[in-house]
Amino acid sequence: MNAVVFHGPRTLSIEETKEPRAGPGELVVATKVALTCGTDLKMYNRGHPYAKPPIVMGHEFAGIVSQVGEKVTGFKEGMRVVAANSAPCGECYYCQHSQENLCDFLSENILGFSHSGAYADYVKIPSRIVARNTIELEKSIDFKLAACVEPLACALHGFEIADMKAGQNVVILGAGPIGLLYIQLAKMYGAGSIITVARSRKKLSLAKRLGSNNTIVANERQIEEVKRLTDGRGADLVIEAVGLPQTWETAFQITRKGGKTMFFGGCPAGTSVRVEAYRVHYEEMTLLGSFHHTPRAVRRALGMITSGDVDVSSLITHDLPLSRTVDAFAMMSEGRAMKVALFP
Ligand SMILES: [Zn+2]
Ligand SMILES: [Zn+2]
Repeated sequence: MNAVVFHGPRTLSIEETKEPRAGPGELVVATKVALTCGTDLKMYNRGHPYAKPPIVMGHEFAGIVSQVGEKVTGFKEGMRVVAANSAPCGECYYCQHSQENLCDFLSENILGFSHSGAYADYVKIPSRIVARNTIELEKSIDFKLAACVEPLACALHGFEIADMKAGQNVVILGAGPIGLLYIQLAKMYGAGSIITVARSRKKLSLAKRLGSNNTIVANERQIEEVKRLTDGRGADLVIEAVGLPQTWETAFQITRKGGKTMFFGGCPAGTSVRVEAYRVHYEEMTLLGSFHHTPRAVRRALGMITSGDVDVSSLITHDLPLSRTVDAFAMMSEGRAMKVALFP
């Protein structure tokens, strides 16, 4: 079969590899579509702490079960499925304390990072993911939309932590796929107003279409602009969906007294940001982090995609054959594409 193999930063090759065989507890899925994601682009450009090259990339996908391993229950050949990119162990301290996204053994088999991913004709699903994070799809749902379950599950998990109240004003920094999902969640749960700040005017117009009441082009006047739109106070909730130290600092600066700042976008290990300690104490600031997803968030996300409550199709801007993965990454780097659907 053909597979897109990552050998190290900026080194990808399309290779003829052996088709996987489903061992006990495992499934093999014929990939119908795999999506690109900001994390894939980061990994392609500079590697990733969880990536173990050489490795077949791809962690957002959907397809048809082609082999069922021994002892697998609930799945059969020909079933349309989606699987999350990882699954918690169910036994460690964090899994036992309802924080499965922080499972100590999460990095062991993440598809596309430490376990062969979905940029291939077939992908083998490890037993843990089969048992906890693989779901049969309804006939009506398009593979491409179902494949968006992972980013939406991550956004949902963060949104639950942020615990936005109806009527609150929300600022979202970043209008990539995650920012655009947060706009829709904030709208769905009754945000008073939604302000999106991003560099690209094209993305901001999409933000507006998906429910952002106001949009601001990111520049040196952005803090002033947010203050102006929030009666000088700053926002009740700010969600950072960029992953840069300077946007983390901006997010804190535009959060009102007593408000919440949610840091969704990850920065590389060793990064520090400055927050004013005076404000954290005297202004009762709440700083929140969010990472990854839980099996519950994965199921909720798929429900929202299936019902059409969340528009994920707008996040996918291009369709390309899998053989053009490098072109897809180039288009994303140049801001021409957001998510690209790759077809084996
Ligand atoms: Zn992703
Ligand atoms: Zn665990």
